[in-house]
Amino acid sequence: MNHTVRLLPADLTIEVGSDEAVLEAALRAGFGFPYSCRNGSCGACFGELLKGKVGYPNGRPPVLSDADEAARLAVFCQARPLSDLVVRAEEITQTRTQTVRVMPARVERIEDLAADVKGLWLRLPPHERMDILAGQYLDVVLRDGRRRSFSIASAPQSDCLLELHIRLCPGGRFTGYVFEALRVRDLLRIEGPLGTFFLRDSPLPAILIAGGTGFAPLKAIVEQHIAAGGQRELYLFWGARAREDLYLHDLACGWQAAGVLGYTPVLSNAVAGSWRGATGWVHEAVLARFPRLDAREVYMSGPPAMINAARPDFVAAGLARENLHFDAFDYAEDALRDG
Ligand SMILES: Cc1cc2nc3c(=O)[nH]c(=O)nc-3n(C[C@H](O)[C@H](O)[C@H](O)COP(=O)(O)OP(=O)(O)OC[C@H]3O[C@@H](n4cnc5c(N)ncnc54)[C@H](O)[C@@H]3O)c2cc1C
Repeated sequence: MNHTVRLLPADLTIEVGSDEAVLEAALRAGFGFPYSCRNGSCGACFGELLKGKVGYPNGRPPVLSDADEAARLAVFCQARPLSDLVVRAEEITQTRTQTVRVMPARVERIEDLAADVKGLWLRLPPHERMDILAGQYLDVVLRDGRRRSFSIASAPQSDCLLELHIRLCPGGRFTGYVFEALRVRDLLRIEGPLGTFFLRDSPLPAILIAGGTGFAPLKAIVEQHIAAGGQRELYLFWGARAREDLYLHDLACGWQAAGVLGYTPVLSNAVAGSWRGATGWVHEAVLARFPRLDAREVYMSGPPAMINAARPDFVAAGLARENLHFDAFDYAEDALRDG
């Protein structure tokens, strides 16, 4: 049975099947709903339920607290309508004109960036391009239809050659394949562009925070900023376990030397005596440098644990919720179910 969902303040009305997530129906209708992980872990697709009831057939999403539910918040990548709904959700207009497509891509180059991170360059077929906003991601569609998400590390100008940074996930179906079997000239099926992680049009200084391969979308954002001659104040923090995990540290140092941005690398597992930079958790280093975040935007990408740890502390430091943007590098939903 279908239900009617009215999205405010855009005032768009869509039809949603009772076994369909509100997010899926909204995206299908061309509404730029914010989203990231699509498995209920990250909370990027939070919205307010003004009227009606939703259900969660896969169980209540981990990111949704009792307080959130009491405040009538819902996680729309998981929420199914149980009645007609009226919902308040931010609309991302920049993605409105994008066409999300599945296409083949040929592996042009594979490079070891670190012991457990490979750089992968994918060439699109001639005359094909992907209309990307710097910071967005794509899905690799596996033979059985399962999907694995990876941020695009190259700026949109190179939209026919897409760069990915892939961390080996122990026991991982796709990343294991990349590390063991994938060769130059092999074909992959990809779908994109996806996600709503990109630099918003704002005069506020932006703090960019990467955890591990969370550097990938931020690299695209910074390269786009450089190509566009952007004047906005940017500050990059890159958190990793050890120095060798900062796999493009020299590139980031080069940006800093050129006056593009400020840069602080932060190691959580630094070897005593061999590192003179910041240590500990990356979000704590951010707050040590910027104790108040009232007049800033924050962009975070990387492990969900980093994002979940940072979010409440940043809000307590005055960061407005609408100025916090993130991509949580979660495992795919099927891996969570299978695992
Ligand atoms: C928007 C987005 C962008 C991303 N961008 C990047 C990127 O640029 N670079 C990058 O390296 N990664 C990125 N990721 C993460 C990446 O998608 C996953 O690491 C990938 O899906 C792993 O695929 P796999 O098939 O190798 O592993 P899977 O087969 O999916 O899982 C591997 C194993 O881990 C287990 N597992 C599942 N969940 C957890 C958990 N929470 N904790 C511990 N173990 C778990 C599974 O059960 C399984 O046994 C991104 C994720 C998202 C959502």
